[in-house]
Amino acid sequence: MAAKTVAFHTLGCKLNFSETSAISRLLENEGFEKRAFEEQADVYVINTCSVTDNADKECRHLVRRIQRKSPESLVVITGCYAQLKPKEIAAIPGVDLVLGAAEKFNIAQHLKEISKGDSTKICSCDIGDVSGFNASFSVNDRTRSFLKVQDGCSYNCSFCTIPMARGKSRSDTVDNTIQTATALAAKGVKEIILTGVNLGDFGKGPNGDADQENFLDLIKALENVAGIERYRISSIEPNLLTNEIIGFVARSNKFMPHFHIPLQSGSNKILGLMRRRYKRELYAERVNLIKTLMPHCAIGVDVIVGFPGETKDDFNETLSFLQELDVSYLHVFTYSERDHTKALEIQPVVPINTRLERNKTLRNLSYMKMQYFTNQHAGQQRKVLFEAFSKNEMMEGYTDNYIRITTPHRAEWVNKIVSWTI
Ligand code: SF4
Repeated sequence: MAAKTVAFHTLGCKLNFSETSAISRLLENEGFEKRAFEEQADVYVINTCSVTDNADKECRHLVRRIQRKSPESLVVITGCYAQLKPKEIAAIPGVDLVLGAAEKFNIAQHLKEISKGDSTKICSCDIGDVSGFNASFSVNDRTRSFLKVQDGCSYNCSFCTIPMARGKSRSDTVDNTIQTATALAAKGVKEIILTGVNLGDFGKGPNGDADQENFLDLIKALENVAGIERYRISSIEPNLLTNEIIGFVARSNKFMPHFHIPLQSGSNKILGLMRRRYKRELYAERVNLIKTLMPHCAIGVDVIVGFPGETKDDFNETLSFLQELDVSYLHVFTYSERDHTKALEIQPVVPINTRLERNKTLRNLSYMKMQYFTNQHAGQQRKVLFEAFSKNEMMEGYTDNYIRITTPHRAEWVNKIVSWTI
């Protein structure tokens, strides 16, 4: 019998990409052959995201495309949106199987139990019952790997649906993570990006109830894995980014001088309404300590504009805070309403056009910050890890402090760390 074929499409964040990779490896171990999403396949898996604004529209669109191209193929929808709105998804014509947070890694078993034409099967339990941890990683052309070490979140920020989609904070153990990192090194991976939903909360264990290990233990242990030359911390909450973690990174040979720290607002009033666990003063302290110990460090900032109750003055407070802060780039998000979140109760709502104007203002600021940061390092020699990906005969890589370098493709530089004058 010919092997079954499977194709994937991922919406959303790096965590979703690493989980799609893990699901793909599971199915390949069961004898499936992987195909590109544009190709013909027996099974199509769409891994969805709840943070994407148009998750439902995108999902419908993708299912329609599959139906036109390949009406006999099985269509499986999983991921955060599948956990949050399983019935809505099951009602999309052409969907055969909906897998929530607890079931996505049991996909092989579920596929054995369904056939095209059966009524849509929903496997999605209450998110409070989700526990256990599935280690996942993605390997991008052997150069960099996104390694999931933590999942879920036990915070309750008022705008966020992630705790409802992924459950309470859980994580892998230090020992398991070391084993995975060692296996990645054996595959030739040079750089690992540690990912999670609330990464700094690492240490809760697979069931979310442990307290023997923490994020600092993890990064100290990873430093000793032979073969991995670089680590990055994808994103860490400011209240969990301790002085000890900053000090360790500053002394480390392997943890890159690069942090991504969600701020969300520079107004303490809005931070309170968002139910964030810090004030702007703490954020500024963290940035100042990082820049004192590592003046060359890149710092990225997440910020949300147009949160309910954000007046012009509140926004200007965020703007001036960010102008003063020695950070390198911003990821700007426009607030959008999410079902079942506390933020829906906050008034007044900011008009959409005002949200978009504020977004534009901060994006312009981000551009200037990035230019300034790059210019500050002009003429310096820094280490760049070049990646295999090439477009128009150009290749790219990042310096230790996350400045992107583009240069004509040279095969001998792929997956090599090269000294580069900026
Ligand atoms: S820390 Fe807040 S914003 Fe981040 S995942 Fe948890 S609840 Fe959502």
